[in-house]
Formats: sequence, C-alpha cells, structure tokens
Amino acid sequence: MSKKLLSFPLHELKMIRVRCKNPKCRGAVLEVPIEKVGCFYNSSTCPVCREDLGFGVSEPNWLNMLGKALAGLQVAADRVEVEVMLPEDNLPEAE
Ligand SMILES: [Zn+2]
Repeated sequence: MSKKLLSFPLHELKMIRVRCKNPKCRGAVLEVPIEKVGCFYNSSTCPVCREDLGFGVSEPNWLNMLGKALAGLQVAADRVEVEVMLPEDNLPEAE
C-alpha cells in the first residue's frame, strides 16, 4: 500500500528554519528568507554564537550552497519545477 504524500512546489518555499546545535547557542533558531540564506551563511559560522558549524575544511559550506540552490531554482521556476515531498506519517502534529 502506498503512503500518502504531501508535496509542494519549491518556488512556494519562502523561509527555512535553522537551529544551531552548539551548546553555547542554546538551540538558537533563525528563520531565514530563502533569498537571504546564502548571505546569512556566507561564512560557515553561526550568525548568533559565531561558532564554526563544523562543515570541515574539505567540505563546502552546505548552508550557503543550499541558499544558492534554492534561490537559483526559484528563479528558474519557469523552466524547471521541483517539488518537495513529505510522507504524511512524518508530518508534525498541528498545533
Ligand atoms: Zn550558534
């Protein structure tokens, strides 16, 4: 039996929520508009506690790359449509 899925087009995504897991940051959460993710995470440090996010010297800055990819795909939405799909049983409870 197939699972029900919730899907939405990527161009409808407006913000992402990023939680820093560094203990010094005490779980600080930033809600960042898609078009500003690359700018907020231009360096691989947390904008709140300034600690390194631990991507390592040989890894890309994943958050910066995510921001660029999301913004770029939104600009290209007239040429390619990407949908985010979530299985219904993984959805958070409504508040
Ligand atoms: Zn932090």
